[in-house]
Amino acid sequence: MQKLKQMKQELASVTKENLLRQLQVMEPLDPSHVLINGQEYLLMASNNYLGLTHHPFIKAAAASAAEQYGTGSGGARLTSGNHSGYEALETELAQLKQTEAALVFNTGYMANVGIISALANANDVIFSDELNHASIIDGCRLSKARTVVFHHSDMAHLDKLLKNTPCSGQRLIVTDGVFSMDGDIARLDEIVMLGEKYDSLIMVDDAHATGVIGPGGRGTAAYYGVSDKVQIEIGTLSKSLAAEGGFVAGSHLLIHYLMNRARSFIFSTALSAATIAAARAALQVLIAEPKRVEILNTKATMLKKELLSAGLPVLASETPIIPLLIGDAAQTLAFSRTLYDARLIVSAIRPPTVPAGSSRLRLTVTAAHSSRDLAKASGIIIHAAKKAGLI
Ligand SMILES: *Cc1c(COP(=O)(O)O)cnc(C)c1O
Repeated sequence: MQKLKQMKQELASVTKENLLRQLQVMEPLDPSHVLINGQEYLLMASNNYLGLTHHPFIKAAAASAAEQYGTGSGGARLTSGNHSGYEALETELAQLKQTEAALVFNTGYMANVGIISALANANDVIFSDELNHASIIDGCRLSKARTVVFHHSDMAHLDKLLKNTPCSGQRLIVTDGVFSMDGDIARLDEIVMLGEKYDSLIMVDDAHATGVIGPGGRGTAAYYGVSDKVQIEIGTLSKSLAAEGGFVAGSHLLIHYLMNRARSFIFSTALSAATIAAARAALQVLIAEPKRVEILNTKATMLKKELLSAGLPVLASETPIIPLLIGDAAQTLAFSRTLYDARLIVSAIRPPTVPAGSSRLRLTVTAAHSSRDLAKASGIIIHAAKKAGLI
């Protein structure tokens, strides 16, 4: 059959271009170590920023919810799956984001896809940063709106596009809060000003910002003090909050509308009680111990400084995401394999996740990494970079 032949050829060609993706089984030992084939590896590739996945209080909350309520939820939120933890979690998320309300989706991906496609109609225009996450791009594609892409964090370009793009409906500017592959922070203060100038809604995706930046880890809008001017704040429960699920925080009107219009919310089975209980417990830890956010950022700054002073090509990240720009995909893959052989796991990020020619290693620091872990990681990376002739 022709399709099967085409699939095979395509896989052969991505393999040749060093762009093949493969799964690797790993068993978590703690937030920063995994076992692979019985060997221990240091993990610097997870988004478990606060290291809360193995926190005893959070594990116990999940276990006891499973014990009490069972495992699967058995139905969508609008049918039989709306167990009591959900609404409590939504109230707590709205408090964290200081909004009227919040709505939980099954993943951050589903939140973006469902929200953008529900909000943006044929007459509307979406202005989207070129480095936005794939789920934002897919939401734009699924909506009937025209999408205009602005150069990464280029406010003059965004201004020009807002001015010159005809729009008979509503304008919507959408941006990651913290960019997932670069670790820089969106210029949300300026975006908000442009939003006011052109009567545009603002949507910010804080998947890598919640629990990471802003006072108490409250995210990008809080970081800039513009929470009251951002109408749609997206987050995920799957990164700092050590569970899974996505959410949106905003006005009662927005939440009520999305409950009725976001198809990824309506037509999918609710998350289990254990997942919701884990997210609630993690949120409780974040609020009770905001120092964890500080510790995380201090550790990340330390490692960045060390790698920079060794001459490594560290991109100017302001967060615990540390990209080492290599450029070539094959070289990036080879470098990540050298680190892997030294029992250090980092992500080799290649196209289409990043633009061609900008392949990179992506390291993430978590609050759970010890000083010893960080020293070990930088030692391995610097040694490998010297051997590869990178420094
Ligand atoms: C991870 C991520 C998502 C998706 O969240 P999941 O809960 O993993 O589906 C959305 N947006 C950004 C910017 C992300 O980094």
